[in-house]
Amino acid sequence: MDLLEKIKHAGIVGAGGAGFPTHVKMKSQVEILIINGAECEPLLKTDQYLMRERTEELVQAIEMVQREIGAEKAFLALKKKYGKEIEVLNKTLKNRGSRIALFLMDNFFPAGDEQVLVYEVTGRTVPPGGIPLQAQVVVSNVGTMVNIYEAVQDKPVTDKYVTVLGEVKQPKLLKVPIGTPVKKCIEAAGGAAIEGFCAIMGGPMMGQIMDDFDIGNQVIKKTDGAIIVVPKDQYIVKRKRTPMTHIINQSKSACIQCRFCTDLCPRYLIGHPLRPHKIMGAIATKSIEDEVFNQALICCDCGICELYACPMGLSPRLVNGYIKGELRKKGIAYQGEKGAVVPNETREYRKIPVNRLIARLGLEKYTHQKVGELEELQVKQVTIPLQQHIGAAAVPVVSVGDPVEKGQCIGIVEEGKLGANVHASIRGRIAAIGPSIEIIGEQEVME
Ligand code: SF4
Ligand code: SF4
Repeated sequence: MDLLEKIKHAGIVGAGGAGFPTHVKMKSQVEILIINGAECEPLLKTDQYLMRERTEELVQAIEMVQREIGAEKAFLALKKKYGKEIEVLNKTLKNRGSRIALFLMDNFFPAGDEQVLVYEVTGRTVPPGGIPLQAQVVVSNVGTMVNIYEAVQDKPVTDKYVTVLGEVKQPKLLKVPIGTPVKKCIEAAGGAAIEGFCAIMGGPMMGQIMDDFDIGNQVIKKTDGAIIVVPKDQYIVKRKRTPMTHIINQSKSACIQCRFCTDLCPRYLIGHPLRPHKIMGAIATKSIEDEVFNQALICCDCGICELYACPMGLSPRLVNGYIKGELRKKGIAYQGEKGAVVPNETREYRKIPVNRLIARLGLEKYTHQKVGELEELQVKQVTIPLQQHIGAAAVPVVSVGDPVEKGQCIGIVEEGKLGANVHASIRGRIAAIGPSIEIIGEQEVME
């Protein structure tokens, strides 16, 4: 099996984003490979752990991928402040005589946004509505590389590293089987330290808010990397929970057209024709088909306009999300400028320092939490979604009652379709098959 086949067989998808199947992304031949180790969202620690503790595997995987895609240059981009990780990486790179270069970035948000990263590292801009491939770049991340190393050893994706912090009694870095209930992860971190809490799945800027029902029903997927427990009335929760009708009404009546949302928008600053203040100014008077709304399709959902920039407490991000949904229902794609763009000359001065962002988000009290040593969580039951990725859901290849081994393929991507295989993350027996496959652990079956 060649590398791409091994990646496909192992069911690898982008570990830190929307879950694009990696075997498809790595088919390209490009000039530059960038591995994202920026750990873009505030508070997260998972990628730092991988760079520090799985350094050799990470470096080997980057070298393999660099060869596979024919890239002349490979960069591992991380923040200057990751002193320990830089030290360990430099030592490993030197020992191996590796050609991989570390690219050190300031501590700003969103340093890890794919298109911001391409500009930071290469000085090239991805065309609006485009992908890094158009700039001769492939971007992947640290977690995906570690999974590729495992795939070469014939180990599929069965586990996920997850940071659990915030209002928990013992913040933890966990390695959990995919399909582990979110609730179990919070319990493994000592449980919630407060009454009445929510959890943010992912980072505080782009993550999803989970209430009691979600916490009880959602499971860890291949793309998850963090759970942050916060009070139900936390600033981020209140902002992200505002009903859409209220947001639209507020936008119509309260936007003062100060354009802070535009002036701090990272996509606008790399030159893309995205001006959220124009969208906010038009929402009261123009129909959804008006061309001013088409630019919402190139918003990356970073949340700066909503959680940092707007002095009126408005949410251009959610308005953009609403417009994107409406345009997609009508089958309208991005129709704006798609050619080369010129970054804004003030960009360097408008990067958002992460410390200031954390203060604005009301998360300072969690910045010094230590997650300690990695803990491997054992669970008795997992519920593994057949769709954890962009594309079609995997098709089950097991039946209820079948015994399965950890790592056994239980769902496959159909030939010719975009998707990814899924594998049993514990040894046990298949208990149910639906949009997810439920496995009861072997011990539980015997009892
Ligand atoms: S920052 Fe807020 S008030 Fe200012 S233009 Fe944007 S949405 Fe309107
Ligand atoms: S969420 Fe706001 S700041 Fe971020 S890309 Fe979209 S419009 Fe720009």
